[in-house]
Amino acid sequence: MGAIVWLRRDLRRADLPTLAAAHERAAGGEVTVCFVLDPAFFDTAGAARRAWLAATLLALREAYDGHLTLLQGEPAEVLPALARARGAGSVHVSTETEPAGAARDARVRDALAEVGVAWVETGSPYMVTPGRVRTREGKPFEVFTPFARAWREHGWRAPAQEPPSLVLAPAAPAGESWSRLEAALDAPGVPDLPPAGEGAALDRWRAFLADGLAGYATRRERPDLDATSRLSPYLKFGVLHPRSLLADLEASGGPDAERFVTELAWREFYADVLHHHPESLEADLRPALAGIRYEDSADLVEAWQQGRTGFPLVDAGMRQLLATGWMHNRVRMVAASFLTKDLHVWWPAGARWFLDHLIDGDLASNTHGWQWIAGTGTDAAPYFRVFNPVLQGLRFDPDGHYVRRWVPELAHLSGATAHEPWAVEEGYAHGYPERIVDHGAERREALARYAEVRGAV
Ligand code: FAD
Repeated sequence: MGAIVWLRRDLRRADLPTLAAAHERAAGGEVTVCFVLDPAFFDTAGAARRAWLAATLLALREAYDGHLTLLQGEPAEVLPALARARGAGSVHVSTETEPAGAARDARVRDALAEVGVAWVETGSPYMVTPGRVRTREGKPFEVFTPFARAWREHGWRAPAQEPPSLVLAPAAPAGESWSRLEAALDAPGVPDLPPAGEGAALDRWRAFLADGLAGYATRRERPDLDATSRLSPYLKFGVLHPRSLLADLEASGGPDAERFVTELAWREFYADVLHHHPESLEADLRPALAGIRYEDSADLVEAWQQGRTGFPLVDAGMRQLLATGWMHNRVRMVAASFLTKDLHVWWPAGARWFLDHLIDGDLASNTHGWQWIAGTGTDAAPYFRVFNPVLQGLRFDPDGHYVRRWVPELAHLSGATAHEPWAVEEGYAHGYPERIVDHGAERREALARYAEVRGAV
């Protein structure tokens, strides 16, 4: 009897435990590898994410030598039909813990059970499946540092090997679906994408290990340097599993590798938080700030979205996002702080914009990155941290290279003056907009609003 591997956030061939599990279950029979273009996910994603998924799937088809079946429709309908057509007795997946995906899986599992097909979960997109790392009392962790310690102590499996005798079934005819993917690449609003697929991801990782890891712990904060791995778009769809990265990092050792492991731990922490608090996608994780006054000025929000706030670091980041589908972490923090603290907009509006435009858009990391900055999330530090976008620029982009690269109206300003066009005579000579708010005043306003709900600053 055959088996089916249904790929979702594990769009790779190497280090894929579901493949080995399906092979074992099929006992020498054929394994059908498939992906389902689910309208509930695909049709609602932004153009950037849809295109990145399309590019990733097209590369994946190559990795499986064409043996990748692409289905289209509601998974609870198309998967039982595929199992019947293929004579498969089991469907293998990696565990999904994001709320909508987990609910979808429950529906598919029930539909498969009705036709006598087993549902088998092996591994997850994380080192440790969300929900497993617990305090000694068996409770979820609320704060990062103790979570990260327990997560390391929990340990993880070694990378999985592909069974040498694996027999892949030929792909089922895909009708229109592959051409839908090709069309998604050419849709309006698609940014410049990085090269897709496992080979490209591994090249990037190896280049980073060779040239970027040394000094990562300090250089990672600098948006003007190419000093981070840029693996997030690949990790997003599981083109690489963090297990493969951890194995290399452990072999490398040292403070930079340590720092990188900590960053991966943040990804795991946020997935864990989302698993325990699915409601946090739409609501403050900590309700302490419920009742704070928010604004929703469409004009100001649009200026933020389009990178026309008049604050160079914020604008450079927002334009990098539109042009490439990616933004440096430090700049994500500054841009998110600007929307929530300077424009007093509730974080979900910003989180939605990011998710629509990021090719690494990840529900858990994005939602909780935003909640952390907004002061409503897991951050142990309080709401009254307000990033000063100018000082952040001077500190982390000291020569102004990053700002000049993404904001051409500032390209004529040399060095750090690019962060303060108001300070030089010709600062606005090329059409850069004036600041849309007074940062000092809005900072005080944010603190006053905070005081209203907390009773004290
Ligand atoms: P590196 O510095 O090379 O880090 C390696 C990996 O560690 C990253 O690829 C990522 O998987 C993980 N990582 C690093 N920093 C964080 C972090 N703070 N939180 C969670 N994981 C982290 N990351 C996403 O992957 N998707 C998102 O949608 C997302 N939205 C964010 C929104 C906001 C407001 C903020 C402040 C951060 C967000 N992040 C998100 C986290 C972080 O900005 C990106 O993971 C990082 O910039 C990706 O670049 P990199 O791969 O070069 O990172």
